[in-house]
Amino acid sequence: MNKLIEEMEKYAVEYDIPIMQKEGLAFFQRLIIENHIKSILEIGSAIGYSAIQLARLDPDIHIVTIERDDERYMKAVENIERSGLKKQVTLIHGDALEMDIDGKFDCIFIDAAKAQYIRFFEKYEKLLNDDGVIVSDNLSFHGYVEHPEREMSRNLRGLVRKIKNYIVYLENNENYDTSFINEGDGLAISRKKKTNMIE
Ligand code: SAH
Ligand code: MG
Repeated sequence: MNKLIEEMEKYAVEYDIPIMQKEGLAFFQRLIIENHIKSILEIGSAIGYSAIQLARLDPDIHIVTIERDDERYMKAVENIERSGLKKQVTLIHGDALEMDIDGKFDCIFIDAAKAQYIRFFEKYEKLLNDDGVIVSDNLSFHGYVEHPEREMSRNLRGLVRKIKNYIVYLENNENYDTSFINEGDGLAISRKKKTNMIE
């Protein structure tokens, strides 16, 4: 397993695949264990790195993960096969915004196109279990979000603006308590608030 993990990390560097950073992943793994999370929906599998890193924590964890890019999807199929965790990981090929997923999840992990985070959140939050959490990755976007003074292309500036909008959206979302974690490339942990029946 460690050899496979190492190979995936090398592959990610070589082919510029934005897999989760080590500290962010370690934080996320602790969150999964401490909260007894058993079912995860991941949006953005890339080569299957984070899905494998989460599935290996506990044989009772099951992950449904979606990837739209053909080449990355193929690589993820291969890596998941090699990991021996095929029974725990269901990989779906396609655009997460154009499909319907069945089921309920303890955790939804948003790690796909950064400009679309609000859309992913709104489409998939209905699949979250009552005490579930939505985890979003890359809210720092390599530090650009905190450092708007840096020189950026127009595209990058647009993306950073969208990530900022998402942060504001989470802060103002009354149905969730969100904390922002400064580990890896910046994570948000949004916990669904208990609904009050007597109001
Ligand atoms: N979670 C992975 C990294 C994902 S990188 C890990 O940490 O190992 C983000 C991935 O999201 C890319 O591979 C990209 O192709 C995919 N993606 C972006 N928008 C998507 C969409 N709408 N539906 C499915 N996948 C998407
Ligand atoms: Mg990421």
